[in-house]
Amino acid sequence: MTRQTELIDATEAVIVPNYGRHILGVARASGSRLWDADGKEYLDLFPGFGAGGVTGHCHPKIVEAVTAQARTLISHGNFFTSAPQVDLARRITDNAFGGKVFFCHSGAEANEAAFKLARLAAGDGRYKIISFDGCFHGRTMAGLSLTPTIQEGFEPIVPGTVTGVPYNDIEAITAAVDDETAGVFIEPIQTEGGILVPSAEFMQHLRTLCDDRGVLLICDEVWTGPARTGKWFAYQHYGIVPDVLTLAKAVGGSLPVGTCVAAPRWADVLGPGTHGCTVGGNPLCAAAGAAAMKLIADEGLVDRAEMLGRQVLAVLADADVPCVQEIRGKGLLVGLQLDEAREAKDVMLQCMDRGLIICIAKRNVVRLAPALTIDEEDLARGLDIFIDVLRTSG
Ligand code: PLP
Repeated sequence: MTRQTELIDATEAVIVPNYGRHILGVARASGSRLWDADGKEYLDLFPGFGAGGVTGHCHPKIVEAVTAQARTLISHGNFFTSAPQVDLARRITDNAFGGKVFFCHSGAEANEAAFKLARLAAGDGRYKIISFDGCFHGRTMAGLSLTPTIQEGFEPIVPGTVTGVPYNDIEAITAAVDDETAGVFIEPIQTEGGILVPSAEFMQHLRTLCDDRGVLLICDEVWTGPARTGKWFAYQHYGIVPDVLTLAKAVGGSLPVGTCVAAPRWADVLGPGTHGCTVGGNPLCAAAGAAAMKLIADEGLVDRAEMLGRQVLAVLADADVPCVQEIRGKGLLVGLQLDEAREAKDVMLQCMDRGLIICIAKRNVVRLAPALTIDEEDLARGLDIFIDVLRTSG
């Protein structure tokens, strides 16, 4: 038995099996490299499942910020406040649309807060919250009530959720909004749904529709923000501004941070007693997030995501791999739709055999989301392996 299998067996003995059998026991990681418990090295084009997405693993500036913060103040509970959470909130609101931030730990919690905020803000008998076909908004009861693919066994779902509205369909969303609608949740690029990019026309129509009907527009950017798609936030591709923006994963610089950002008009809706989270945005996690946001600004990572993303799309298109039906994405968030017969999971596992970490979205969509700091040679080498696996396997 290897250390790796020992670690995975030990995991199964004490950790609930909600993720199925773990496929890797990780020992350490640095930048875009990761080592398993047996010492095998991997090139990681999907660091931290998005959470390590800005800087890769253990960036020295983040390690420094976290270490210094750990020596100073780790946690205080949210009846108190401290400078790191204000710093992170400012770095988010300055690059988004002003307003105010509620801190929690995860994307699901951020969406839970946004769901409650929309109902409180809309008032006037409005309670319906709409989501789109193919969406993913997290696994709390509100999140799964908006996400039909993960509801089985958890019924009854939260009343007043209206799901399955076709994505990128102007007529469908126009028909779905009514006088009881409080909010519409949308991912400005659907990620778990297969890296689907809507049209600017659709997004602008949705914004106008929400304005005309007094409905809050909530952009779930747990995957797409910050910087990943070549803008600070993906809604900025479409020339619109949402009422609420939810973030998690990369905004914490690899540590757990979730945020629900309310535009100025809605900034005080979550008033005293309406919502809470004991250590959401605690100084330690906020320091990591603020360091990541600072790195994005200092190192021009928004533009780098855009530039590298264009290169990745060009290399993949030039490769012209027969089993690839479509290549989609923006910035360094890229998905490849494979032939119906190809299982994305097989491609992922074969890449892992060759020392490369990628991920799957749907059954036959593979996706890449490398660190925005990835070395260009590493990225080129990773793409070579990936393309070779696509050509030779299956
Ligand atoms: N929203 C989107 C768009 C996501 O992709 C995810 C997770 O992948 C979530 C919400 C839930 O985030 P978390 O796993 O941090 O709760």
